[in-house]
Amino acid sequence: MNHNAKIISALPLLPQLDAFGHVDHWIFDLDNTLYSHEAKVWPQVDERITLFLAELFGLDGMSSRALQKYYYQRYGTTLKGLMEEYGIDPADFLDFAHEIDLTLLDPNPALGAAIAALPGRKLILTNGSRGHAENVAGKLGILQHFEDIFDIVNAGFTPKPERATYENFLTKHGVDPARAAMFEDIEKNLIVPSALGMKTVLIVPRTPDPFREAWEQAAVEAGHVHFVTDDLTGFLGPLTRAVPLAAEIDLPQA
Ligand SMILES: [Mg+2]
Repeated sequence: MNHNAKIISALPLLPQLDAFGHVDHWIFDLDNTLYSHEAKVWPQVDERITLFLAELFGLDGMSSRALQKYYYQRYGTTLKGLMEEYGIDPADFLDFAHEIDLTLLDPNPALGAAIAALPGRKLILTNGSRGHAENVAGKLGILQHFEDIFDIVNAGFTPKPERATYENFLTKHGVDPARAAMFEDIEKNLIVPSALGMKTVLIVPRTPDPFREAWEQAAVEAGHVHFVTDDLTGFLGPLTRAVPLAAEIDLPQA
């Protein structure tokens, strides 16, 4: 049994409507959540980061790859490591890392319609840059459904899964976590959202993703993943409320 099948078998496959009945804030990660890894977007960013390190330090590919892994595990992102240890300009890094080809990323009108139909506010919370999020969501044709993007610059370069980043996000956008749901492809990024009271949904690949790290696919045994799906659009469909929210019901005038 593969890892994802194991995760899926342990958790509900379809959303229980009442589990999301109180939710009117919908928070989405970007990379590998709003699009499939098959679009080969993230591997390109990953390769650009390796190349950035190779050029910065004059390293060969294998050495810069090893350095990249070290930064990711120690600091959460390569950028954070480079800023802490070498004081590099984050704008240079982000521009370079996100200079990628989105040819394989197709518009996803079904996903757009599902997001548009969700009741309430929709926001993107990403460890990438705003420009990258706008390019990707724009190519998917879903950007217009989001009120705003909270990116790694807004986060002061402290990435998810750090608690401070979620707290800053919630404060900046006036989001009550008790009324929010978070969608993510990295399970450790759901630990804090769950602890803060959000509903959490883990997005897993439909086909094996060789670029996902083993530690990211660690078995979900802790309680911070409430739902899991390999079909975000299908998962969101039933969450569209046919019944108006209480505030929208006309009450007889006294
Ligand atoms: Mg992601």
